[in-house]
Amino acid sequence: MPHDHHEHPHSLLPSDPALRVKALETILTRKGLVDPAALDAILDTYERKVGPHLGAQVVARAWSDPAFLGELRSDASAAIATLGISGRQGEHVVAVENTPEVHNMVVCTLCSCYPWPLLGIPPAWYKSDAYRARAVREPRKVLAEFGVTLPEGQKVRVWDSTAEVRYLVIPMRPAGTEGLGEADLAALVTRDSMIGTGLPGVPS
Ligand code: FE
Repeated sequence: MPHDHHEHPHSLLPSDPALRVKALETILTRKGLVDPAALDAILDTYERKVGPHLGAQVVARAWSDPAFLGELRSDASAAIATLGISGRQGEHVVAVENTPEVHNMVVCTLCSCYPWPLLGIPPAWYKSDAYRARAVREPRKVLAEFGVTLPEGQKVRVWDSTAEVRYLVIPMRPAGTEGLGEADLAALVTRDSMIGTGLPGVPS
């Protein structure tokens, strides 16, 4: 799958994201180009307002509303925008649906591309060298380490995110949830189930 990071200016900065951000912040603040308070506001947005609860709303709607699922299949970014969810790193979202035949799992082999507006800031393991290398090479072993064992007949399809396309896994709706409304359904949708390294919860 094509990956266009090679051309990005950010590849000239340190590869560790924390160092990279700190270096940028220092330079920009010294030059008077950014206001540290404005940066704090952005961080606050991603720490407290944007997070997996938004992706969970999308999944719950997809489970509940066939028309919405149809929109999600044809243009996921547009469908998501109808729920008021949009933003950087979420311009081209593709929804990949788990079925009894196929389990989807998302990685960014080159860096850490991730659907921020839907899932918030990526977890440390998602950015780790180990996950990025092994998700492609031995996805079932990686899944086992996350506590996920799939039926033998279910294939694993691994999607490599890029700066242009971010994937959202739509897990299978758990059995026993027929009577649940969207809010109760959303509560079962974990972050990892939308990356494909987990499965949704089951109703208690
Ligand atoms: Fe990336």
